[in-house]
Amino acid sequence: MSEFVTLTIDGIEVKAPKGSTVLEAAKSAGVDIPTLCYLKGINEIGACRMCIVDVGMRSFQAACMFPVSEGLKVITNSPKIRETRKVTLELILSAHEKKCLTCVRSRSCELQKLASDFNLHDIRYEGEMPNHPIDDLSASIVRDPNKCVLCRRCVNVCKHVQTVGAIDTMERGFNTIVASPFNMPLKDTPCVNCGQCIVNCPTGALREKSSVEKVWKALSDKDRYIVVQTAPAVRAALGEEFDYPMGTPVTGKMVSALKKLGFAKVFDTDTAADLTIMEEGTELVERIKNKGKLPLITSCSPGWIKFCEHFYPDMLDNLSTCKSPQNMFGAVLKSYYAKKVGIDPAKMFVVSVMPCTAKKYEAERPELASTGYPDIDEVLTTRELAEMIKESGIDFRNLPDEQFDDPMGEATGAGVIFGATGGVMEAALRSVPFLLTGKDDDNVDIKVVRGVDAVKEAEVEVAGVKIKAAVVHGLGNARKVLDKIRAGEADYQFIEVMACPGGCVNGGGQPIQPASVHNSVDIRAERAKALYQEDRNLSIRRSHENPHVLKMYEEYFEKPGGHKSHELLHTHYVARENYPEE
Ligand code: SF4
Ligand code: SF4
Ligand code: SF4
Repeated sequence: MSEFVTLTIDGIEVKAPKGSTVLEAAKSAGVDIPTLCYLKGINEIGACRMCIVDVGMRSFQAACMFPVSEGLKVITNSPKIRETRKVTLELILSAHEKKCLTCVRSRSCELQKLASDFNLHDIRYEGEMPNHPIDDLSASIVRDPNKCVLCRRCVNVCKHVQTVGAIDTMERGFNTIVASPFNMPLKDTPCVNCGQCIVNCPTGALREKSSVEKVWKALSDKDRYIVVQTAPAVRAALGEEFDYPMGTPVTGKMVSALKKLGFAKVFDTDTAADLTIMEEGTELVERIKNKGKLPLITSCSPGWIKFCEHFYPDMLDNLSTCKSPQNMFGAVLKSYYAKKVGIDPAKMFVVSVMPCTAKKYEAERPELASTGYPDIDEVLTTRELAEMIKESGIDFRNLPDEQFDDPMGEATGAGVIFGATGGVMEAALRSVPFLLTGKDDDNVDIKVVRGVDAVKEAEVEVAGVKIKAAVVHGLGNARKVLDKIRAGEADYQFIEVMACPGGCVNGGGQPIQPASVHNSVDIRAERAKALYQEDRNLSIRRSHENPHVLKMYEEYFEKPGGHKSHELLHTHYVARENYPEE
């Protein structure tokens, strides 16, 4: 039996896989049907009715849900269809707070684009304007329900991809709203601040808590010494804000832009990623040798840490005690570096540029202040950095390439790949043989842990010690692996977890791509290419060979896992409340 059916779309014969939808068949035939709520694989609920088509039934049907069938005749474009879609759009806009000029999503808003595509210059219907309070109490996420179109993309990402369920649709009819249970502020829920709801929202109803004004203020304070660090995934996506093709690394221009913005020093978080590998690799080796708590689970991703604290508090001992690279770097800057260059750490202001909204929450954790000062003073997302560059009138595309500042400017390829799922594991596996035996393994490219498969496994044997490792990304996938461990059905020694699907390259602070791109390009894989490209081009690709990291141990920390490291580079976790059981 054929796996395909033949149908006609606007009079053109189209072959489409059985089980696919009219929307997918139309897309493959080059017919563009407008959508608003649709997000492939995540939100296919036909809620907004923008994709209605005529399939010969009494009423129009939502193309995103209607299955293809043999001989089906579909009309996607007729005066009646266009008028029906236009009325639908006007009704959405009639109850929408239309403040495009000052909206964070202006020019990247899918609703605004639809209004433009439909040539809506006037709205015929006057609806009652919503007047919901804005929830801006979270350290990371701001919710503005007045700009919500009830598409439910955020609800389904939070519930089904991340399995957190911090937001849902509440009330009914005109009063329907997307909110936290009991309309609690997001900060009082198990929300893990991952920002996946933001990058999947078509409008300005969700955004990060902005640090831009605070950073401008710090930059103009002559009494402060302002330094910045940038995470690996930022260089892989910042270019999208300046019309570079996805996956173009813009490291040198990013450094140049940060110097123009006025930062005294521009450092690479990748160096701290190398430091993390030294500490975490040592922790793994010690736990294996001393029969400590296994599996050891990575701790770089603050969304994952909070998820574990809420949903798997019984497994907090499995978490590596290593701070994330962001916070390790902050602690290093305010201790070792401040001493080395003779700067009072009280005057130092450390900004980090991260692909991640959860890093804002992490920076506020009170325990992450082991120097007596917060490790990190402010966190900018990749999007916020782009805003600052644009606001300054910097001609990003014509900037020269500049290098990160020393003495911690040079990172290894291992540090760079931290930004993609599997990167932390690969970096660790490049160094564990040396940490166990003092000798390197020949294999630098550990490709089995690369790519976007939900769960990846690797087994390495070093000096008779077998290490079974797993890599998961996206919290729903993490939950599956953790449940297996709880049930005694998995025997891993080492697990990498990143909260966001695809890892940091697809973090909640990265440039927002519309659903049309999400639905047709694997953003995670495209951005990861930029990191693997940079890794290949670096002369040093193993963390334990980073000369700056080795010098830091020689001059200050003495040895990985030593007393000073534990004081400054490690942390602890707290069990947090979950929602009460229903
Ligand atoms: S959400 Fe979109 S349509 Fe609404 S104010 Fe913002 S830019 Fe304009
Ligand atoms: S930040 Fe993450 S956990 Fe919080 S509401 Fe959004 S998707 Fe859910
Ligand atoms: S907040 Fe955004 S993603 Fe969520 S339902 Fe509203 S418009 Fe859709």
